Amino acid sequence: MAGKIQLLPNRTANQIAAGEVVQRPASVVKELLENAIDAQATIIKLFIKNGGCTLVQVDDNGVGMNAFDARMCWERHATSKITKADDLYNLNTLGFRGEALASIASVSEVEMKTKCAEEDTGTRIIINAGKFINQENTAATQGTSIAVKNLFYNIPARKNFLKSISVETKHTFEEFQRIALAYPAITFEYYNQGKNLSKLESGDLEKRVNDLFNLKEGELIQTNENTDIVEINGFIGTPKTAKRTRGNQYLFANGRFIKDPYLNHAIISGYGGLLEEKKYPFYILFLNVDPRKIDVNIHPTKHEVKFEDGRHVYTLLQSVIKKTLGTHFVIPTDTQMLNATAVKPTQNLNDQFAFINPNVDQNFNPFGHKKQKTPTSWEKLDEILNTPIHPKQKSFFTQSEKTTETTSHHFEIFQIQDSYLVAKIEGELNLINQHRAHRQILYERYTSTQSVSSQQLLFPRTIELSQSDFALYLEMQKDINALGFDISEFGQSTIIINGLPSELSKEDGASVILQIIEDFKTNFQDLKIAKKDALRQAAAKNAAIKTGKALNQTEMQVLLNDLLHCNQKTIDQSGKTIAVKLTKQSLERFFQ
Ligand code: ADP
Ligand code: MG
Repeated sequence: MAGKIQLLPNRTANQIAAGEVVQRPASVVKELLENAIDAQATIIKLFIKNGGCTLVQVDDNGVGMNAFDARMCWERHATSKITKADDLYNLNTLGFRGEALASIASVSEVEMKTKCAEEDTGTRIIINAGKFINQENTAATQGTSIAVKNLFYNIPARKNFLKSISVETKHTFEEFQRIALAYPAITFEYYNQGKNLSKLESGDLEKRVNDLFNLKEGELIQTNENTDIVEINGFIGTPKTAKRTRGNQYLFANGRFIKDPYLNHAIISGYGGLLEEKKYPFYILFLNVDPRKIDVNIHPTKHEVKFEDGRHVYTLLQSVIKKTLGTHFVIPTDTQMLNATAVKPTQNLNDQFAFINPNVDQNFNPFGHKKQKTPTSWEKLDEILNTPIHPKQKSFFTQSEKTTETTSHHFEIFQIQDSYLVAKIEGELNLINQHRAHRQILYERYTSTQSVSSQQLLFPRTIELSQSDFALYLEMQKDINALGFDISEFGQSTIIINGLPSELSKEDGASVILQIIEDFKTNFQDLKIAKKDALRQAAAKNAAIKTGKALNQTEMQVLLNDLLHCNQKTIDQSGKTIAVKLTKQSLERFFQ
């Protein structure tokens, strides 16, 4: 009996695949350039006409193909790069799906000339809309030239989606730049309408960056850091070079350009308060990880990747930025900080403040290398407070009942507006936002591996969740309980709260879980922060003491002591100010 199901004809399947692989001429640029790189070319030329809509051509001097491969490479799933599924986890080439050429050919007119070292003559092939037209011998030098003409000519609907020629041209050049950056050892040339617009001689990364971006001396800082998990190298711009637009941000994972909002966030937060508001730093960073620990297979255009140790990569990247900025800058003086920090117009008092920013701590070194000693005030303070605080004692509310321990330092502190602490630290006046301080303390505690304390409820509370929130909860259950919650599920969408993190009060503890789920959704879905981190931030925000809460002397002492033990004392994850310091000079300025 004949069923309804049929296999799609090859050309239809290719056109569907092209829907994903080929979005615009720049996608063709990417695929052809990557193929040339995989073919070990040392000189690659790109020719664009009319934004790539009428022509994208790539000529390379790579290994080329023999007559058989020249025909084969246009078949779907034809690849020379992997032979078994296992190879996928050990990728050292840019391509591997074997679908780019087939997809491109199905939506354009293609002409290829290629010759490999083993053959005397080359091969010329013509394919139109995926239909094989002609193959013949031809005279050629070693290498491959592929011309993709009239993209989407056979699919008007997609052609209509293309933007103006200038926009498409811009995209092709961006793609060219990304790839040229990742392969400075290869010579690249870019031609638009027959005119050579860019010629990049082979060299090292620094030369390539200079050739492409025309920066002034001292505007870039080099960074190079090696850990077990990831090797990070490249260049970051000084805060002054940050722009109003996101433009020059290049992140590469194992040689592939990636767009990763989460890692971008790590970089931005590494700059901390050094960036003016709404300004984006310049960076060209290469992350290299063991190919088995990265999944490049999750998106056909491969601008997204998944790291096995995503969370670690985040933290390391953030630390590397801090350290790079820290080793490059001397501790800023008041006036220098003025230029560098986020001074919101409404906060004109900020003009008077210069705070010591751990983000530019010269000695900041997450990798435990030997420090060159020039301690900042915070550091000196840390030394005074050197004695470690036991995890249990670190809990703000649990310790608040006791008098301050001998391990902590006593400060002169008072509270204003039930919201800010005014403290004398090393003879200097400091203002601390109590909510943000506590939030940071909790966040770092949740992030560290130390166990969190929890309190059991005498009367467990039940909460009814929506279906989707319940699904979310189930997914996060382990992580939620790791924060000190003791929650079990009951039925289809109900949860029972048996215990809470000790910093939460019993009254609002149960309802806070709902707010945590809400904030987690925002962090994770809108801000694209990684799951675990999104949860920690949401929990820290909701468990932290609120603005407007009166604190007693002991509570203030504990809060400040705990803050001084944080890695980030003055600026939080999102770049918001936790604490500011009023130096002698800034005080003097008040009275000039
Ligand atoms: P993939 O790159 O994923 O293998 P493609 O469809 O892009 O798939 O290419 C198919 C095959 O064609 C490649 O695996 C390679 O063997 C060959 N090929 C493509 N472009 C070139 C080139 N410029 N030089 C030599 N071989 C090439
Ligand atoms: Mg390819």
